[in-house]
Amino acid sequence: FNGSPPEYNIAIVGALGVGKSALTVKYITKRFIMEYDPDLEGTYTKHEDWDNLDLVVHLMDTCDKEDSDPARYLKWADAFVTVYSITNRQSFETAREYVENITQFLKQNSRDCPVALVGNKIDLERYRQVSKAEGSALSVELECLFYETTAAEEYDYVATVFSRLITEVHAEKYGV
Ligand code: GDP
Ligand code: MG
Repeated sequence: FNGSPPEYNIAIVGALGVGKSALTVKYITKRFIMEYDPDLEGTYTKHEDWDNLDLVVHLMDTCDKEDSDPARYLKWADAFVTVYSITNRQSFETAREYVENITQFLKQNSRDCPVALVGNKIDLERYRQVSKAEGSALSVELECLFYETTAAEEYDYVATVFSRLITEVHAEKYGV
């Protein structure tokens, strides 16, 4: 890798309040922090040790405003995490729109990047509005990956999503 570690950019998108910032902080620090500024957008960096290979992962925790341009993350990202909350059906509809926009952008630019549809907040099972089967069916329709997660419990859920995306991007770039 020419002496410098491979660097991968992952953008996290989705409706307000679905847990984009919570998932970002969970991935970076393994901790769950309850409250964030809902208007905050930022990029965070984490080093991953993969079989003694140092990978640098940059995470963009997005926050779309009415006038914000999706090009900022569409052009930047090597992979996309589209989040909805399993407790909020509206956010599931919004997630569909996000994945469709991402897919359309990638097609127009002849790019192939992994996209994951992620149903978050599964610790709030009693408030569930979107079944796992519905999430899975949408991912089949949109031809993307699908996971359900929680930022509030074990780190494994979050780790699984990011490991998979990093593996796919790495394979795409380096063929291993
Ligand atoms: P964002 O607008 O998508 O960045 O959403 P935030 O990360 O700010 O989360 C919105 C609210 O949902 C906050 O009060 C979080 O503490 C809460 N939250 C986020 N993820 C989870 C989760 O997995 N489980 C639970 N119970 N609450 C969550
Ligand atoms: Mg946020």
